[in-house]
Amino acid sequence: MPLRIPSFRAPRLRVKRQENRPNAAQRGYCDNAHKQWRMAVLVRDAYQCQSCGKICGGKRDAHADHILPISEGGARYDLENGQCLCAACHGRKTLRENREHPQQGQGTSTRSGQ
Ligand SMILES: [Zn+2]
Repeated sequence: MPLRIPSFRAPRLRVKRQENRPNAAQRGYCDNAHKQWRMAVLVRDAYQCQSCGKICGGKRDAHADHILPISEGGARYDLENGQCLCAACHGRKTLRENREHPQQGQGTSTRSGQ
């Protein structure tokens, strides 16, 4: 009779990467204009997450988010279209957006509102 060792390891949850998703540089997140926009958004919001209210502790935790995604016609460098989010809230928002608009990020069409 084989000995069964009762052990259970919870599987690590992994965010499924979108195939064909351009990298950060291809999406225009590495140029100076974006860096300036990002910094202006974070300073204006005093590094406070606009979703949960948490004060973001460091560079990696404070994310500048486009309120209306660029892929949906949101302005890329408009301060009014930016908000500070903590990494967790930004991740949740991005997942929600990807669920609602699975085509996003492929760069084939820009759905601008009419
Ligand atoms: Zn948050």
